[in-house]
Amino acid sequence: MGEEKYKKPRERMVVEQLERRGIVDERLLAAMRAVPRHLFVPSNIRNRAYCDYPLRIGHQQTISQPYIVALMTQLLELKPEDKVLEVGTGSGYQAAILAQLVDKVYTIERIQELAERARENLAAIGLEKVKVEIGDGTRGLPEEMPFDAIVITAAAPSVPEPLKEQLADGGRLVLPAGGHGGQYLERWTRQGEIISREKLIPVAFVPLIGEYGWPSGMA
Ligand code: SAH
Repeated sequence: MGEEKYKKPRERMVVEQLERRGIVDERLLAAMRAVPRHLFVPSNIRNRAYCDYPLRIGHQQTISQPYIVALMTQLLELKPEDKVLEVGTGSGYQAAILAQLVDKVYTIERIQELAERARENLAAIGLEKVKVEIGDGTRGLPEEMPFDAIVITAAAPSVPEPLKEQLADGGRLVLPAGGHGGQYLERWTRQGEIISREKLIPVAFVPLIGEYGWPSGMA
């Protein structure tokens, strides 16, 4: 599979893009070292898999920049026993990183073909335990709630109401909030009935489209 030739670029990605920018969680850095990101991008652009930017994965969607994947994951402050929900499976790469850190990972994708490819990508590296659902992730996954951590990897107007309700006490939710022009990364934390919000850095994501997201005309 030419696995060897990707080792150096992957190590360089971890050191130059992640450690140097302040990613310090050792388990997360080990996960970023372990997951073969090149298997989650289309084969014709595999040589750019470890570059410092997002890449197209078809259907006008993208796999996020490695640093953003790491930052969002670090903000979730995961413990091994946490149950995690991702909205916006895309390639399955973020879900693969999550699955290195916790046992229970659920991810939802609205585009069937991407969901199916993500399932194949995850199975190819032995991560069948990740549950990939097809549907509108703005509704969450009520039958599996509550979640200790939720990550939304598409830009939402704000946190979809059902996802707030599905967040466990003490749970963390990370998302890019905002519209076409750009968004801010935000972390919402629930303590009992109180949910607090932190606004972090400016980011640029594809839109979250669904009942509690943007209308489909945004795509
Ligand atoms: N996390 C992905 C990248 C996400 S790109 C990765 O690691 O590769 C954002 C994804 O969110 C796209 O695939 C898009 O189709 C999906 N999406 C947008 N709105 C959605 C919704 N309401 N429910 C589920 N998926 C959605």
